[in-house]
Amino acid sequence: MNVLVVEDEKSVARLVKKGLEELGFSVEVSHNGTEAYTLAATRQYDVIVLDIMLPGRDGLSILRGLRQQKNAVPVILLTARGELDERIEGLDLGADDYLTKPFYVEELVSRIHAVIRRTSGVQLSIFQAGDLTVNFVTREVKRGDRPIRLTAREFGLLEYLMRSPERVFTRTQIIEHVWGYDFDPNTNLVDVYVKRLRKKIRGDFGDDLIETVRGVGYRFLRP
Ligand code: CA
Repeated sequence: MNVLVVEDEKSVARLVKKGLEELGFSVEVSHNGTEAYTLAATRQYDVIVLDIMLPGRDGLSILRGLRQQKNAVPVILLTARGELDERIEGLDLGADDYLTKPFYVEELVSRIHAVIRRTSGVQLSIFQAGDLTVNFVTREVKRGDRPIRLTAREFGLLEYLMRSPERVFTRTQIIEHVWGYDFDPNTNLVDVYVKRLRKKIRGDFGDDLIETVRGVGYRFLRP
């Protein structure tokens, strides 16, 4: 598995490289955004770990450039505490996940595995999370034996979140994907729908499968 680590803090880069290599990853490191963009655009990586603040080109600009080139390589952003706007912008630009510094290499590894599982995964027609079963073809939803009736939008929302478990989606991404046209970003439409959906799919023990990620958006939890 080839990983490109883009991080200008050399001690962090070294630690990540060492940690990943010990687990059998093949790691390339770049300390400079301009160089990193060239590498990312010309070589094949299984995942890119991308810091945001970099000399040369910054991480968000690299990400934007790659996605404009239709390069779908999985990207995990490294963000500093407080970089909330950058985090949201990164997710909107198509980052697959983010980690806030400081972090443990083990955490990064589990995110890398999750991202790779998601992006290489076959699009299954039946999805199960605990005793929640969703058939994306027949659109049947069940919690245990109990059938659940969802509206088309509710189903669209559930499907979108559920196809990428653990991944955080911003409200903008959810609106663009599920509603498909521009809404006032200040609308609370997404929150209203998530609330309704949560209530409908809640199990007997009141567990919530959709988590609110404060200040960012929502994600579907793998139970
Ligand atoms: Ca940095």
